[in-house]
Formats: sequence, structure tokens, C-alpha cells
Amino acid sequence: VSPSAPEPVVDRLAIIGIGLIGGSIARAASAYGAAREIVLADSNPEVRARALELGLGDLVFADAADAAEGADLVIACVPVGQSGAVAAAMARSLKPGAIVSDVGSVKGTVTRDMAAALPAHVHLVPGHPVAGTENSGPEAGFPELFINRWCILTPREDTDPQAVETLALFWRALGASVDTMTPEHHDLVLAITSHVPHLIAYATVGTADDLEAVTRSEVIKFSAGGFRDFTRIAASDPTMWRDVFLNNREAVLEMLGRLQEDIAYLARAIRWGEGDKLFDLFTRTRAIRRGIITIGQDSADADFGRRRQQVPPVPVARPYGDE
Ligand code: NAP
Repeated sequence: VSPSAPEPVVDRLAIIGIGLIGGSIARAASAYGAAREIVLADSNPEVRARALELGLGDLVFADAADAAEGADLVIACVPVGQSGAVAAAMARSLKPGAIVSDVGSVKGTVTRDMAAALPAHVHLVPGHPVAGTENSGPEAGFPELFINRWCILTPREDTDPQAVETLALFWRALGASVDTMTPEHHDLVLAITSHVPHLIAYATVGTADDLEAVTRSEVIKFSAGGFRDFTRIAASDPTMWRDVFLNNREAVLEMLGRLQEDIAYLARAIRWGEGDKLFDLFTRTRAIRRGIITIGQDSADADFGRRRQQVPPVPVARPYGDE
């Protein structure tokens, strides 16, 4: 089911950073009629050329200020370490009453950095669509990315409710459900649901790569389901994830501390043969997986990442004399 807006939510939408997320917002806003006009900006000339070829926007600029001029809604879709610089670059050309948002995976530092750079006559409503893939760049985007996914908005309490509602309407027009919370709570929740799992994947794949007793070709050849899923996550964009960890330091370290205690508990259970402790935890975690599938946030298909039709058919043995 494709979402669609009865009429555009905003007239002029500006997207700064035309990667996976910026490119997907451009495609979705155009496909579902959420904006009358879409203008784009990116600092990378190759990305701008590709965005033009793909027809992702009506105009493509090098300078964020040119794209932001006259825009009703501006969304920064750059690595979180760049959001303050993008806000500063476009500050002079934002029109009074414009809504400025972002899609960064961390909200505390981003909100602080953007708020410090923006003029008082615009509405800052930070956001984070909890949707993505391990791919990056303008080709990686697709319009359905946000359908049935959550977009979390983290406005300050004194933000104009009308601006928050307009942004929520925009994300709903792209198929997302919208929730609001404080930036601090967002960063704590995402530390355990996204940031720490990525760190574990990076560490696991890195450890396997460093092993001396097992060759790299064996790691690749015998990659079991668990390791394969980790390699998918560990293939995520290095710039984006470096910035996530540097900007969500406290919440990630807090969750890592908790995790290290829980891993020590499991290691002890393994050492002393306490199978019931392992069994109890594995039963509880299975229920979490079922819960995610029940609310439609993932499919129940086994062996995620290896779709059935991609598996080559097993050769059928022919009876003798059939040649
Ligand atoms: P991406 O595919 O790497 O795209 C980012 C684009 O922004 C690149 O084209 C980059 O150019 C450009 N850029 C970087 N700095 C800029 C600046 N100062 N001014 C203008 N353009 C600039 O990244 P993405 O995956 O879309 O992620 C963008 C944001 O979305 C991040 O904050 C991330 O935390 C958030 N997010 C990502 C996901 C995900 O799964 N990927 C999910 C939800 C939210 P270069 O190529 O030159 O670097």
C-alpha cells in the first residue's frame, strides 16, 4: 500500500545531503506528493551529478544556502558531525517561519549544534527516521524506505506545535508513524537498539579478521548465518558510524557497561555449566524477536538477507537411462 498526501504538505522542500536518507526522502516526497517543489544540495560534485541524472529534485545546488532560500521545510541529511556546519551555512538564507529539521541518528549534540547556528525566526524540529540500510549514496535510496517505520521527533518544549504538526504530517505522507520524545531519551533508546548492536557487529567482524588460527578465506567461506548478519551491519557507512559513536558517547558507554556485566554473567554460566541460566535468557530473547515480528517491524522469513528466489535450485538427480 503506497501512502499519498491529498495535497502537498509543504510547497518548497530543501534536502541538504543527497545520500541514502536524503535521496529516499526526495524520491518518497515526489512519489507520494508530499512537496510541490524539491530542491537539493550536496557538497560532493559527483553526488550532485548523479542526483541530476536520477532526477531526484527540481534543482541541485552546491551551496546549502542556495537550496534553503525560500524553503518551507529544510531537512539536513548529512553525517551528524556535519549538522552544525550545515545549519550555519544556510542560516543567512532561511525565510522567517521556515521549519528546519534533520535525520541524524543522534539527537542531543545535533540539536545543540543546530540550535546554536540557526536564527530565532525559524522553527527547529529535529528528527530521526528509524529506517535505513547498510548502503549509502544517492543510488541507495528508494521511496518505500519509510513505510511502516517510525520517525522520532525531538522538539524542545517551547517549539511552535504547528511546526511540529506540519513535520509530523510530512513524515506520515511518506508512510512513517511519528513519535516525539526528548533528545536525551532518544539517544538512550537508540544506544541499545541500534548503536551498541552496530559496535558489536564491527567488533565481531574485526576480531574474526584479526584471527591467526582461522584464515580470512575460511571466515568468508564458512560464514554462518550469525556472522553473515554481522557482516551486513558492519558494512555500514564508516563516516556516519564514526560520527554516531563520537556524538552519543555517554549513552553508548552506559549501555556498553551494562552489556559487559551481562556478558560476564553468561561467560560464568558457560564456565560452570549452568545451562538453565542460558536457557532462560535465550527463551526471553526469543520472545522479543516474536514481538518485533508481531508488530510488523520485520518479517518472519528465515535466513534474512538470502531471499528464497536468490538461492540456486538444487540439481535434481536423474534416473538412469533418461539421457
Ligand atoms: P550518505 O548516504 O553518506 O549521504 C550523506 C551525503 O551528505 C553525502 O552525499 C555527503 O557527501 C553529503 N555531505 C556530507 N557533508 C555535507 C555538508 N557539510 N554539506 C552538504 N552535503 C554534505 O549518508 P546517509 O546514510 O544518508 O545518512 C545521513 C544521515 O542520516 C546521518 O546523519 C545518519 O546518522 C542518518 N541516518 C542514517 C540511516 C542509515 O541507515 N544510513 C538511518 C537513519 C538515519 P560525501 O559523499 O562527500 O560525504
